[in-house]
Amino acid sequence: MPNRPIKERLENLGFTPQEQQIPVIPSGVASILLLMVMLYNGLTNPSINSLSHGILLAYCVGNSLALAYFHFSLVTTWQMKPALVWTYAVVEVGAAILAASFLPKTVDAYLGGLMVLLCLTASIIADRKPANFILISITLTLVLFNLPDIGKPAHWPRLLGATLVSAVANEAIHQFKKLTTRNINRLKIINEFSRKITSSLETEQVLNLLNETIPNALPADSYFFGLAEGDEIRLSLLYDDGEYFRDVKIKMEGTLSGWVVRNQKELFLPDLRRNLDLSGVDQVIVGKEKTSLSWMGVPINGIHVKGVIAFASYQPNAFDRSDMELMNNMAQHAALALDNTFHHAQVEKQSQLDGLTGVFNHGHFLNLLKACAEQAQLQKRPLSLIMLDVDYFKQYNDTYGHLAGDEILTALCGTISSHIKNTDIVGRWGGEEFAITLLGANGGQAQRVAQRIHESMAVLKISSAGHKNIPAPTLSQGIAQFPDEADEIMKLVDLADRRLYIAKERGRNQIEPAPEHWEKMRV
Ligand code: GH3
Ligand code: MG
Ligand code: MG
Repeated sequence: MPNRPIKERLENLGFTPQEQQIPVIPSGVASILLLMVMLYNGLTNPSINSLSHGILLAYCVGNSLALAYFHFSLVTTWQMKPALVWTYAVVEVGAAILAASFLPKTVDAYLGGLMVLLCLTASIIADRKPANFILISITLTLVLFNLPDIGKPAHWPRLLGATLVSAVANEAIHQFKKLTTRNINRLKIINEFSRKITSSLETEQVLNLLNETIPNALPADSYFFGLAEGDEIRLSLLYDDGEYFRDVKIKMEGTLSGWVVRNQKELFLPDLRRNLDLSGVDQVIVGKEKTSLSWMGVPINGIHVKGVIAFASYQPNAFDRSDMELMNNMAQHAALALDNTFHHAQVEKQSQLDGLTGVFNHGHFLNLLKACAEQAQLQKRPLSLIMLDVDYFKQYNDTYGHLAGDEILTALCGTISSHIKNTDIVGRWGGEEFAITLLGANGGQAQRVAQRIHESMAVLKISSAGHKNIPAPTLSQGIAQFPDEADEIMKLVDLADRRLYIAKERGRNQIEPAPEHWEKMRV
């Protein structure tokens, strides 16, 4: 048989043919055995006339064949065929009516026993409806054909014993099937969740997946995902009673979520009307101004990420232990995925930085410059670019050693960073050449920044491998302004570079153009 996907199997009431065969075969075999015993007892009973013998023989043999056929068909079919189950129910009820009409009352006890077995088969193979149809129809038949005895309590066990057993069996089987289907469904949810979450590389994706999964897995009126941030918890994905709410922060101390994060243990509170036996911990209302009556929190316990996923309901006892196990499992997968996203973000950030100085590398700096130029254009603000090169650096390396050279490059980046704003960007253009983007600054303002870097470098001293107080090398800088002097970023880079070259040509240790250039531009 082909290995069918779990989804398709679930749609078939959650059971495969193999899963149906095992429980249905005993009731099929027992029904046929019961008919055989009924036939033997009837044929050996001298008080039954020969016509009845004939009818009994036809009924028992015919019905045994029918039952064998139905059970064989039911257990070998891939798909649930409701028509087959209903045919089985109707044929068996019809046969019981015929038996009750034409056979002596002594067969009623057998019909009651048969009804129990028919109900068992129908309940196992289908839902409650065909089983209840068999139960009600055969009970009515037995009652109708025994109407004269109905007033005598001594006959009630014979009439109603089998009915009660069938009714209880129908209900019990239904409940067990519901439980099994629910458990299969849970496995499916967690399988799908863990499969999808392994490919999530961003926190946003993990949150979206949780948001997709939780409503299918739990009867929660509200839920949220909380990440520990110092002594607070940032609640994202805050859903309450059909509405999503903005992220909020709650205290770690004294809250249910805080307790879960701090202790890294799940918390299961089926009825919040009872006193919490956690000292100093209280319920905090987030989302709507409504008090939840059941609450459940599971910890997110990653290496880099700590947090909580919490679920609440306005009903008491809305969740059970298996809900919590499922959510705990999901939280573990989420923690792993969040650690991955953290790692991924770190690696991605690392790949954008220069290994020695920690400023952006050439490729990423260019991307950021492009984005800055777009922003400048949109906001109609200027943007200036400084290209900066260390003078005679080869000689510097030769004099003080490569290590001192490395230290100077790192110190230079530190100096640059101390003179620029958070929104400004430094990148290593290559070797000992750096570029600085100043969003919102015109050439004159960039000139002043360049001047401050120049002055700081003039007084900078480093110590390296046996050398003390080594003076820093001088710098040459070229500045250009976007979009007034160059309306494309490559033109801007080219202009700043040419000006840097001019500064070099003129003797180094200077900034090109001179401040007057920017004064003139403003006029
Ligand atoms: P100029 O004033 O014309 O710029 O002269 P320069 O010597 O600075 O320029 P040149 O292009 O001739 O030499 C650049 C030097 O920068 C050569 C290289 O060894 C050095 N350099 C590039 N990257 C690094 C680095 O990461 N560490 C160290 N220590 N030196 C570097
Ligand atoms: Mg140089
Ligand atoms: Mg150079």
